[in-house]
Amino acid sequence: MLKLSIPVQEFASHLLKWYRENRRDLPWRKNSDPYRVWVSEVMLQQTQVKTVVPYFEEFLRTYPSIEALANAQENEILSTWSGLGYYKRARNLHKAAQIVCEQHGGEFPPDLSQALQLPGIGPYTAGAILSLAYGKPVPILDGNIGRLFSRYLKIEGALEGSTLAQLRRFLVQLVSEASVAESIRDFNQALMEMGALVCTPRNPQCVSCPLAASCIAYEKGLEKTLPQPRTRRAVQEFHYTVALIARGEKYLLTQNREDTFLRGFWEFPRIQGPPTSRLAENFKMTHGLHLKVRKRAAPVSHRITFRKLNFHPVLVSLQSPEPQQTFTWTKPGQKGYPVSSYIQKILKSLES
Ligand code: SF4
Repeated sequence: MLKLSIPVQEFASHLLKWYRENRRDLPWRKNSDPYRVWVSEVMLQQTQVKTVVPYFEEFLRTYPSIEALANAQENEILSTWSGLGYYKRARNLHKAAQIVCEQHGGEFPPDLSQALQLPGIGPYTAGAILSLAYGKPVPILDGNIGRLFSRYLKIEGALEGSTLAQLRRFLVQLVSEASVAESIRDFNQALMEMGALVCTPRNPQCVSCPLAASCIAYEKGLEKTLPQPRTRRAVQEFHYTVALIARGEKYLLTQNREDTFLRGFWEFPRIQGPPTSRLAENFKMTHGLHLKVRKRAAPVSHRITFRKLNFHPVLVSLQSPEPQQTFTWTKPGQKGYPVSSYIQKILKSLES
């Protein structure tokens, strides 16, 4: 059993003072509207702040309210999200907005158990929305905050399993303390900001850290060795041959209706595996396309979470009549035809 205790008042007052003097001026901090907090927290999952800022502003311009988002078409939302990656987040946001409109009168539910029922809302996102938008004393725990506490409290071992569960319980207790609960909006944002700017993964800025005086890792010189790494999921590799059929600036694209990770996106027709001498036959069988191979291009790889996708482009010409229904001729990136960023990567690789 870990012994987790801190000088709460001192911790909170140093942290809050630092935050009020150093907070970044970010667009989602303009007000505490639950929808803005929600969209920003979903976008910030696995994604850096500087990448998120323009997407957040464009998303809010396009879908200014939960209702506007609920009423939009999924492919339009994916287009707006295009390039931000982890598209399941956008689909869940859309589904959750529809549920909020149908079951909660268009207001994000301020109740933790109801919030957790929504697609794509886990304890971190629910905690962020409830605390930042509604001022509820609910803790948040992500990689940044976990790292800060694992150093501050000198938690040895990886932050997973029972260690993580104990840290969660400790945080529930911490945010119920009066000196924290009364400033929960700033307190939780201060923890996020500290994890992002000061207690960073590789080079924590301990010398200028407001918590340094009581940080155990700093006192013992362990700030660069904690937390210990978590068990990583093995990377899975996949190979695909993709057919590039051009007409001016347009390409023949088909909508993916199968993969869980690229479903709904428009892609170059592709088949599994690297190119073989039977590729024209395989494209005919899989897509009904009669192709003549002109040239093979260098492969392009693309990571989606634990998957490494290797795309082998082949430049081909179309021998069969114009394909119908599941295909379209379009300039990749055109609104209404969302594409994954790997499509642009392939096109860029052809220029070099
Ligand atoms: S003193 Fe260093 S290790 Fe401790 S909380 Fe601050 S930045 Fe992190």
